[in-house]
Amino acid sequence: MRTVITGGAGFVGSHLCERFLADGDEVVCVDNLLTGTLKNVDRLRADPKFRFIKRDVSESIEIDGPVDNVLHFASPASPADYLAHPIPTLKVGALGTHNALGLARAKDARFLLASTSEIYGDPDVHPQVEEYWGHVNTIGPRGCYDEAKRFAEAITMAYHRYHGMKTRIVRIFNTYGPRMRLDDGRVLPNFMKQILRGDPITLYGDGGQTRSFCYVTDLVDGIHRLLKSDYALPVNIGNPSEITVAQLAEEIIALAPGTKSAIVHEPLPQDDPKRRRPDIAKARTILGWEPKVDRAEGLKRTLEYFRAVV
Ligand code: NAD
Ligand code: UDP
Repeated sequence: MRTVITGGAGFVGSHLCERFLADGDEVVCVDNLLTGTLKNVDRLRADPKFRFIKRDVSESIEIDGPVDNVLHFASPASPADYLAHPIPTLKVGALGTHNALGLARAKDARFLLASTSEIYGDPDVHPQVEEYWGHVNTIGPRGCYDEAKRFAEAITMAYHRYHGMKTRIVRIFNTYGPRMRLDDGRVLPNFMKQILRGDPITLYGDGGQTRSFCYVTDLVDGIHRLLKSDYALPVNIGNPSEITVAQLAEEIIALAPGTKSAIVHEPLPQDDPKRRRPDIAKARTILGWEPKVDRAEGLKRTLEYFRAVV
């Protein structure tokens, strides 16, 4: 098997590269390093089955030889990143997805799209089921990401229906773990960096908004199962254990007894979703998938990683 992974030098992408190499696949990682880093795939570069191509996939993607799978993960993913790069975010969701689908079609390969819980916006259905159409502010600051991913889902389904391609769509809920960028602005790296440096912990709003955090190896296992399945409609992959962001801060503080960090409140960003939890009935029944790493264990492993890089 030969698998192309766009965004393979990012947080999730690098774990996918590792997993497919471990399966014995050849892996071609295509990344322009906008929000990723070669450090994430350093260890893999000695492997003759691994190849890195520096390329903006919104321009074009050219790969010699046969390809069996195309996994399209290229896109800024942290709100701070996509707010800093709104136009590249829209382009990679639209043009990048079009190019990745074109590659898969030309090679007669399977295609898997990294979609997101953000396509549900600030949801008024809870927990979020795949049938829910979402509540997105198209012209708000998060619109560049949410609408790019909604377009990406639409064009993926069009290629599936019109060209009869084997396509898969994973709707990823908040995922965390080693190789998140320390300064990517997401809540986990922020809180961990802050407790390790003894800086104030920045809680946005009153901290009552909720998220459900999935450890990265569980996500990778779900993606792997979805790719191998024959299910073309979107599937939520996430950990349904929901907590408030304030509770998350307390859990992280408890991991560093004696930390000097205290909580400070900062304004809640516009359109920040108030509640988010995946309904994973489809992943359970169709893929036989369940998350295995609980938050206590996942946070401990992630803090060890950040301790080494801070
Ligand atoms: P990340 O920023 O660590 O990785 C994204 C990678 O894509 C980076 O290496 C970046 O350099 C690359 N990239 C961006 N634009 C590109 C372009 N035009 N051409 C080539 N490469 C480009 O983010 P992540 O958390 O690993 O997210 C990966 C994917 O998963 C994204 O598509 C994201 O939308 C999706 N996702 C992630 C989460 C999460 O919680 N981590 C949740 C929902 C969806
Ligand atoms: N958040 C926070 N402090 C931070 C960073 C984020 O309170 O330093 C909150 C943010 O407002 C949101 C949640 O944590 O409610 C998750 O934010 P993140 O940026 O990780 O991703 P999102 O789920 O919003 O895409």
